[in-house]
Amino acid sequence: MAMAICPACDAEVEVDELSTDVGDELSCPDCGENLVVNGTDPIELDFADEDDEDEDEDDDAGDEVDEDEDGDLDEDEEEQEDGDVDE
Ligand SMILES: [Zn+2]
Repeated sequence: MAMAICPACDAEVEVDELSTDVGDELSCPDCGENLVVNGTDPIELDFADEDDEDEDEDDDAGDEVDEDEDGDLDEDEEEQEDGDVDE
């Protein structure tokens, strides 16, 4: 038995590499995702696409990261001393 990583949930999936070939399909025991064997040495799993192997359109959009990194810079530097000139 070989262990492969589910591309969907990162779970370890046990694959019998002796009876598994590239293109074989299985489903992840953890998340139930349909997977296809993409390679056997080592075992690589990929999402099984039911009608095509096109990976262009995925449904994981909509999670735009918006990090606001402004608005915390002022208000902390009001301590101004006179005569702080280095010579
Ligand atoms: Zn999974």
